[in-house]
Amino acid sequence: MGSSQAEVEADKLKVIFVPFLSTSHIIPIVDIGRLFAMHGVDVTIITTPVAASIFQNSIDRDTARGHSIRTHIIKFPASQVGLPEGVETFNADTPPGMIAKIAQGLSMLKEEMEQLFEDLEADCIVTDMFYPWTADAAAKLGIPRLIFLGGSYLAHSAQHSVKNYMPHKEIGSDTEKFNLPGLPHKLEMTLLQLPDWLRATTGYTYLMEMIRDSEKKSYGSLFDSFNELEGTYQEHYKKATGTKSWSLGPVSLWVNQDASDKAGRGNGKAEEEDKGQGWLEWLNSKPDNSVLYVSFGSMSKFPSSQLVEIAQALEESGHDFIWVIKKKDESEEDSFLEEFEKRVKASKKGYLIWGWAPQLLILENKAIGGLVTHCGWNTIIESVNAGFPMATWPLFAEQFFNEKLVTDVLKIGVAVGAKEWRNWNDFGKEVVKKDEIGKAIALLMSSGEGEDMRRRVTALGDAAKRAVQGGGSSQANMLELVQELKELKLQRVNSNVTAIP
Ligand code: UDP
Repeated sequence: MGSSQAEVEADKLKVIFVPFLSTSHIIPIVDIGRLFAMHGVDVTIITTPVAASIFQNSIDRDTARGHSIRTHIIKFPASQVGLPEGVETFNADTPPGMIAKIAQGLSMLKEEMEQLFEDLEADCIVTDMFYPWTADAAAKLGIPRLIFLGGSYLAHSAQHSVKNYMPHKEIGSDTEKFNLPGLPHKLEMTLLQLPDWLRATTGYTYLMEMIRDSEKKSYGSLFDSFNELEGTYQEHYKKATGTKSWSLGPVSLWVNQDASDKAGRGNGKAEEEDKGQGWLEWLNSKPDNSVLYVSFGSMSKFPSSQLVEIAQALEESGHDFIWVIKKKDESEEDSFLEEFEKRVKASKKGYLIWGWAPQLLILENKAIGGLVTHCGWNTIIESVNAGFPMATWPLFAEQFFNEKLVTDVLKIGVAVGAKEWRNWNDFGKEVVKKDEIGKAIALLMSSGEGEDMRRRVTALGDAAKRAVQGGGSSQANMLELVQELKELKLQRVNSNVTAIP
């Protein structure tokens, strides 16, 4: 029996992806788009020129692999909002005075994007959580919108718990611990560790409410997570919010299988440029599991007072380390760090990477033994996949919640002891002392508890690999989702056919 015209049409699923303009949101949603294309979906990623430059290399490679995927670039209205050309993403180098203008410029792209959803005949749109308006845009076109929620299920469940039960309203001080009610585990936090918008109502609180409303109006949510990692929280989240969701992770592991994909990820640089920096040679000279990888993601910087504590803790720990440092300002000199770099280079104890590190490549090197991380969700997933325990040092966004997953639920990390949430573009008041950092590092690299954490995280890393292989949980979710979207399309095409008089 032959397929009907409508069935053939439904088989060609066209999905549009819209990443938010910050590196750590762009990276996973683009990887999800590439995953869809790997599964035979026709994918268009709508973005602005600077954001595209971060990932275009991987799209070109996927096209060469025969996948149906492309980038549709729209111009960022820099001059209209008073920004210099090329400033259009949120990252560690974004000048604080330009943040509001980037947001304003982004909001001006709404109409153009909405028109593109129609012109490109999308069957579904997958958009970042920071585009709540896209839920209504999809509804107008009668197509499903999937919302990409960055962060862990635990973090989103915890936010839901705080919002519903307001446990922080019943405590006596900023540092008193309280339990997050209704969650599968007993997880304790303090008021200072909560994001400011959950402590009290701010402009961001309203934005988060819009995001939650748009999530309810969406067809479902996508997470870069996997069942074996936090299936309990996935189930909890779905039940608590009454939404549908799919875990498709680790997406980075799934789509970045070649060295070229891993090398360029997140900064568009070629593998050769990264190799030229010498970190690989340095790492290859070190014994297995001996090196600490210290990085705080794509969005944060530290004041000198904090850099000094980190440097001293690393030097005094006796362990070899790679430390990725974002310069405060290109013109600013930090003689302390210059001296430090010279010293650790001479002793071969440390390797400093200024700016951007090829994290995926570094984490697959056997010499790495553990991470000091700010608990950005991408990094946690990448560390789990690579099988490394973590010293957790959350800073902003949902990172204090992610920390709980690592230290209290999965027991694959030890807390450095950060006490205070801050904004991503703000140094905050807290300076974590070298002794605290040193204690966490010693435990992480120890043969006792450190080894137990390593055993657990290695098992999770194995589970991550199984999740994305044939018969694995994420793969099953992906196949189910694509099938479901095709059926929705078929229903839409059929109803359009019957609607014609
Ligand atoms: N990353 C990288 N090199 C760097 C800094 C970050 O490759 O020097 C990548 C890292 O692998 C991860 C992402 O950028 O995929 C950072 O995301 P995460 O959620 O960990 O932190 P955020 O940047 O949001 O603070």
